[in-house]
Amino acid sequence: MKRILIVEDESAIAFGLQMDLQGEGYEVVIESDGESALQRARKEAFDLILLDLMLPGKDGFEVCRELRRDGFKTPIIMLTAKTQEAEKVLGLEIGADDYVTKPFSPRELRARIKAALRRGTDDDAPTYRFGDAEVDFARCELRRGGKPVELTAIEFKMLAAFIRNGGKLLSRDQLLDLVWGHGTFVTDRVVDNHVVTLRKKIEPKPSEPRYIISVRGLGYRFDG
Ligand code: CA
Repeated sequence: MKRILIVEDESAIAFGLQMDLQGEGYEVVIESDGESALQRARKEAFDLILLDLMLPGKDGFEVCRELRRDGFKTPIIMLTAKTQEAEKVLGLEIGADDYVTKPFSPRELRARIKAALRRGTDDDAPTYRFGDAEVDFARCELRRGGKPVELTAIEFKMLAAFIRNGGKLLSRDQLLDLVWGHGTFVTDRVVDNHVVTLRKKIEPKPSEPRYIISVRGLGYRFDG
């Protein structure tokens, strides 16, 4: 069972998160200020830390920075109330892995958590599961219901890019860079066409996508 430390001083949010994540099968521990969070994280092992930015005493920035300085490699997702703060989270390079802005959808947060946990265990668990699908990164294979599904190299790269960025909106430009490589001359249309063929191979009902979600005018988001 994966253990998650939630550091959040607003008890309603902390409690809601706890209920949701326990329902997903995670073990959850809550701390409500920076200093106790640091003590807890140093004493016990966690697979992931959800860290609110605005906390009494030491804030999320300081907590994150101190943990990284001490050599902790646990994935940290910051919870921020403002987009400007979110930009700062990444800009300051304090060592956070990701951020989610409040109010967040439980579904988005769950996807981000899954993605962060996956990145955290890249070496010992090179497979990813969603629905009846299993993606084997070591062998570049997709299986559904245990049976191999044939993917082209581009389709596999695209699926891998979606999984590694689970829950995050990817623009067509970002997908071009991630899948075809920077500077390749491919049109947006080509990206869309590959999304269509990939959906046929991973979606239970390709006409009503459940995993690769279109975000109108902006791009795509993977909810696996
Ligand atoms: Ca707060």
